[in-house]
Amino acid sequence: MIDPSLSYVEQLRRRADAIASLCVHGGEAPDQDGALDPPIVLSSAFAFTSASHAARAFQGEDDAWIYGRWGNPTVDALETKLAAIEGAETACATASGMAAIAGVLLASCEVGDHVVAPRSMYAESARLLRERMPKLGITTTFVDGTPEAYAAAVTERTRILYVETPSNPTLGVVDIGAVVELARSGAGSKAGSLGRPLVVVDGTFATPFAQSPLALGADLVVHSMTKGISGHGDVIGGAVMGDRALVDAARELVVKGFGGVLSPLSAWLVARGLRTFALRQERACATAASLAAHLAAHPRVAVVHHPSLATHPGHALARRQMHAYGALLSFELLAPPGGDALDRGRKVLEALRVATHAVSLGDVRTLVVHPASTTHSTMPAETRRLAGITDGLLRISCGIESEADLIADLDHALG
Ligand SMILES: *Cc1c(COP(=O)(O)O)cnc(C)c1O
Repeated sequence: MIDPSLSYVEQLRRRADAIASLCVHGGEAPDQDGALDPPIVLSSAFAFTSASHAARAFQGEDDAWIYGRWGNPTVDALETKLAAIEGAETACATASGMAAIAGVLLASCEVGDHVVAPRSMYAESARLLRERMPKLGITTTFVDGTPEAYAAAVTERTRILYVETPSNPTLGVVDIGAVVELARSGAGSKAGSLGRPLVVVDGTFATPFAQSPLALGADLVVHSMTKGISGHGDVIGGAVMGDRALVDAARELVVKGFGGVLSPLSAWLVARGLRTFALRQERACATAASLAAHLAAHPRVAVVHHPSLATHPGHALARRQMHAYGALLSFELLAPPGGDALDRGRKVLEALRVATHAVSLGDVRTLVVHPASTTHSTMPAETRRLAGITDGLLRISCGIESEADLIADLDHALG
């Protein structure tokens, strides 16, 4: 909830304050040598103290470390930190965001099951649902993200209501609470431990700074930790968080079964990045709102997508369900008379000096991409059009550089 009676900067400061100590200290305690920084335990196997210790460990009667794919102290400490920041019962770190997403989908669905997912979503997730899951007999209906569209698509085999909000790259906002209500209304499959469809939210764009899907009733939240959670663009990782039984099912399948385990070195890098998470997000979210307002008033810009703008269709909903409007925005260039938007987009990208032309997001560096020719080029053109990804659309992921430098850079490139 974003309180309109406070300035947005003050609102961001309060949100950062709420999680800052968890970011620094969560999951951490000095080790036996007194080392403040958690050691990177690279060992693939762990010694037993006796034969009966080994037997107890294998029976699950002793929570001894056994083997790196089944558990590792460095990864475990990261999972504790993540769960604390997200407000989750438990967390499972995975080798990448896609490992987390595939794990959750495959752990809950079997042949004949059905998923409802938004049309506007991360392209690789869309491809998993559109091209790969049907080969396993699991089908997906893609909808436009309104609760009514979700409701209309539900069948008696619907096992998952999948939500990605804000969405990529047009920052559409999906009403998590309304999808949760639908899942609990008796519609959809009665299979599984809950006897109803699961609500799974990809929270990568918002990060746990800007949104708490579990508090809104979602069953699981998935993240690409490659993005804002680690924040420094130096690691690939993912996470599944929520109810212990559901997270454990995903862990059994994706980490233990498919081997999508996060390496201890990667876990250490993510934990290191998380210590400054609240500070980084506070600044990046403030910059995103400033850039959105600046671009909205720019004569070369046709439209700006950011939930902070009163003109954004998801503005009121974002204010209700988010702690902040997030660090990503996108905007559409006006096509020059007689010229094409695609070409102008390329020229703008090549003129940037402070912002970097690269995929990914949530980095300390401001990153700009042209989705139609890069991240979303595998999407059929018609699907792209329905998802609102026009040829002149550029996406910005705000980093932590000087806001004035970024505005000057964009003004120069647009000119
Ligand atoms: C990057 C991203 C993913 C995939 O994460 P990887 O770590 O690259 O596997 C999934 N969803 C969203 C919204 C993303 O931005």
